[in-house]
Amino acid sequence: MGGPDPTSELERDTLTGLPVVGEARARLRDWLEDANGDDEAPLVHAALLGLRRFETINLAYGESAGDVALAEVARRLNRFLEDDIEGEWMLARGRGGHFVIIARGPCSRERWEWLAEELADSIALPINANEGVLRLSPRIALLRVLANERADTALDRLGIALTSLQRDQNRRVQWADGEEALIGRSGAQLEADLLRAIDRDEIEILFQPQYSLSDNALVGAEALARWQHGELGLIGASALFTIAERADHLMPLSRHIAMRALELASEWPAHLRLSLNVTPADLADNRFAAQLLNVLRQTAFPPQRLTIEVTEHALLGDLSTAQRSLQQLAEQKIEVACDDFGAGFCNFRYLKVLPIGAIKLDRSMVEGVLDDSRDLEVLRAIIALGKALRLKLIAEGVEDEALRVLLADEGCDTYQGFLGGQPMSSREFLELIRP
Ligand code: C2E
Ligand code: CA
Ligand code: CA
Repeated sequence: MGGPDPTSELERDTLTGLPVVGEARARLRDWLEDANGDDEAPLVHAALLGLRRFETINLAYGESAGDVALAEVARRLNRFLEDDIEGEWMLARGRGGHFVIIARGPCSRERWEWLAEELADSIALPINANEGVLRLSPRIALLRVLANERADTALDRLGIALTSLQRDQNRRVQWADGEEALIGRSGAQLEADLLRAIDRDEIEILFQPQYSLSDNALVGAEALARWQHGELGLIGASALFTIAERADHLMPLSRHIAMRALELASEWPAHLRLSLNVTPADLADNRFAAQLLNVLRQTAFPPQRLTIEVTEHALLGDLSTAQRSLQQLAEQKIEVACDDFGAGFCNFRYLKVLPIGAIKLDRSMVEGVLDDSRDLEVLRAIIALGKALRLKLIAEGVEDEALRVLLADEGCDTYQGFLGGQPMSSREFLELIRP
């Protein structure tokens, strides 16, 4: 794991909380010194992200809307990099709408370019601000840092490539070494690869353990999908679902994951629960409940041990279809959990009109509670709400012991996070159950 270390004394930008670009330059310099004289293939990659015509957002919507957009871009970049970069990395804020990413570790040219395309997709998604819905058009310059290259020259090369890219209507990603982007892999080819991967069972299901906060006992796991792509390497869940969505393969992918996860979980002892994530496309389909109940019968997994996790995002479509499906599942004793609670707009109406049995507090709701009293008060209010409605409270993204203790004291029921364990293969999960 190579995310930014929150405890270190980096100089940070106040708007986004990211280190300033000078910190990335210094880090890059350190890495290049470490690699000194090494003629191996370059292990350091860099990218410079700019937002095309960003000034027009400030002009049209005002600077505070521009600030909201930049903070949101920083958040999306951080989440994406945390999920998809395996080695060490740093994200820094440059001037204006510029962001610098550096990463160290083995990574193919194809993979670095693919990551940039995915990043660009996620930045291009609409952003909600008070002033209206903002749409950004990201441009990304890419670089593999040469052996013996200086940090300054590397960043200069990126800057030059980005300037030429900003003028271009039709290209989002460009290599600073003048080579053509590979294109192709990122489009149709990748979508065809996905269909084959589903057929060949190359989508892996990992399980992240969940523990009771009162006695630290293992109580179940959430199934999380991964794709080990032959050439691009590991593709994380968010990118996997974006590709499936582009290719219209969401339903087959979801069905495949549900089937595999339930088969594997059928081997577990009877006190453990399984949580499955549900996509917006699943909930919008009126056959979803019947299909899931069918998979439960085929795998002989008891419905009362299953939780399905629904995000607010998944409910934005046709609420009455979702309502019917969830009702049908709840009648069979399947627990419905509201996922990523606190990350979106928290439409409390869902808690009234849907058969919700649990809320899963998003990482962003719990990460600040140890050192910010306002964050703690918000958490307390949500816990009180959950208790009044007799909902189970699950905290996610718990990375340290102090936070676990606090959540237990405040009355949360269960937790999940790197403290208790990273997502692991089903074999590793079985070893955890029966050491
Ligand atoms: P999610 O449901 O909120 O899943 C939790 C994500 O947080 C997982 O990322 C997990 O690896 C990560 N995580 C867990 N503990 C910690 C922690 O302590 N610290 C930090 N920093 N991160 C932690 P992952 O596996 O990359 O999944 C990302 C999202 O993709 C999931 O978010 C979920 O919405 C979606 N997803 C994953 N697998 C599936 C699936 O099989 N089906 C569907 N429909 N969606 C899935
Ligand atoms: Ca989830
Ligand atoms: Ca979540």
